[in-house]
Amino acid sequence: MTATITGASLIGFDDVIGSGGTFRGIDPATGAALEPAFGESGADEVARAAALAWDAFHSYRHTTPEVRAAFLESIADEIEAVAAELSERVQAETGLPAGRVAGETGRTTGQLRLFASVVRDGSWSQARIDPGNPDRTPLPKPDVRQRSVPLGPVAVFGASNFPLAFSVAGGDTASALASGSPVVVKGHPAHPGTSEIVGRAIRAAVRKHELHEGTFSLLVGTSNELGGALVSDPRIRAVGFTGSRRGGLALVELAARREIPIPVYAEMSAVNPVVVLPAALAERGSSIAAGFVTSVTGSAGQLCTKPGLLFVLDGPDVDAFRSVAEEALAGVAAAPMLNPGIAGAYESGVADVLATGVERAAEGVPSETISCAGTASLFVTDGSTFLTDPPLHEEVFGPASVIVRVRDEEQLLEIVDGLEGQLTATIHADEDDHPLAARLVDRLELVAGRVLFNGWPTGVEVGHAMVHGGPFPATSAPATTSVGTRAIERFLRPVAYQDTPDALLPDEIRAGNPLGIFRRVDGLPEQS
Ligand code: NAP
Repeated sequence: MTATITGASLIGFDDVIGSGGTFRGIDPATGAALEPAFGESGADEVARAAALAWDAFHSYRHTTPEVRAAFLESIADEIEAVAAELSERVQAETGLPAGRVAGETGRTTGQLRLFASVVRDGSWSQARIDPGNPDRTPLPKPDVRQRSVPLGPVAVFGASNFPLAFSVAGGDTASALASGSPVVVKGHPAHPGTSEIVGRAIRAAVRKHELHEGTFSLLVGTSNELGGALVSDPRIRAVGFTGSRRGGLALVELAARREIPIPVYAEMSAVNPVVVLPAALAERGSSIAAGFVTSVTGSAGQLCTKPGLLFVLDGPDVDAFRSVAEEALAGVAAAPMLNPGIAGAYESGVADVLATGVERAAEGVPSETISCAGTASLFVTDGSTFLTDPPLHEEVFGPASVIVRVRDEEQLLEIVDGLEGQLTATIHADEDDHPLAARLVDRLELVAGRVLFNGWPTGVEVGHAMVHGGPFPATSAPATTSVGTRAIERFLRPVAYQDTPDALLPDEIRAGNPLGIFRRVDGLPEQS
């Protein structure tokens, strides 16, 4: 199959070239503008896409689990059918290497198929039955049954740093479509060609399963107004977003100012602290240092789970650890960053750290030829400076990190207690470290969405148990996850049906369990 890129927004089954001017993708390795030009969509296109999505909602939410699951699987198949051309375009628009793009393609199709299995399984609907008892005294007990219904059309903002796995057919889209909610994507302006190829793959699957055309639309443009109009449209009922703290908060505010406010699930910023405890440092400091640098510099540091801070208790093994990390980082060649804006933000983030007076202990190998090159930086400071220098607590999006030499356990716990909300927190510990590790886990579980041991936070496994979330500013909605199967819960709400005749109940909660799904009856798993 051949991938098509025309520069259009995809509104239902119509290709619409937005009339608000044009823009192009940029190859961040060369700085060259890529063909074709894309038409800027605006308020008219938002209104069309949202109206279609609202129309589609009435039929899409009633599709059977089998139809929705097969639809998600077809999207994965359609993406695989254009994988070679898609990979070329992703690489050209993002500078990400072929291996990373192949991995991300697999993650994207895997996610879609995982959500297909979730839809078939049916437990997502959280069916519960509290049977009635007309003979109960002093009052009869009503029959109450609960299941989940989709919220309605969801606006998804594609992420710049995951052009596939968190963009047009990424995790937010897969979980929203799985829930029975149509999706309108606002594609990230840095990879419009990638967005169009994937958007066409979803459209092909919509056609194949004879779904309403408004089940999916893709809008492209570069203005804040486009995303703002989408979030403000009364037919949009929830928002999924991955990007900057500023962008996420702007959308949260817009959504709250609507006549009917809606939830915004924004994944924004994190520094993902790592703590290396003394026994682990003494036993395997060199391999921890090497792993740290690999995790900081992979994908040019443009991962939301990149470790931006590493805390180590000061002692005789710290200098050796530091030397290995410095040497490894000094050998890392500069790589293209995703786009000129992100390259510029990285440079100014590094400048902000330098302005604090903190020592730059190592710098990677710069590039004379790459247009948007990101050169790695490693900083070293001490716990007291860290505690008094707020810029050191902020995310620098790119291949930079700070090693903090902490005076003692008391200072370490003071630092941990002062951390902002995080996507992840990592502890390197051997058995002798367990007493302190236990105290850290007790605190870090309140700070982060995921606490991990003896590994690295980059590379998020997609499965049933994964959490990719956390308290603000990691996300705007700490009770949720954007990765893993529980992501579907963001786009559902529970409804109770009281004393409803069986013939009028939805299948999930009818007598005899016609869908054969997991249900709780009087709080206990139903016996079949
Ligand atoms: P971004 O600037 O937040 O943009 C993300 C999306 O939101 C884009 O589609 C953008 O489109 C839209 N948007 C941003 N502000 C908006 C507003 N006020 N109103 C309406 N729509 C808005 O993120 P980015 O372009 O991916 O990267 C910029 C910075 O974000 C990076 O340097 C990095 O610091 C951070 N970032 C963090 C993560 C993470 O996972 N923690 C991931 C990616 C980026 P328009 O610009 O066209 O409006």
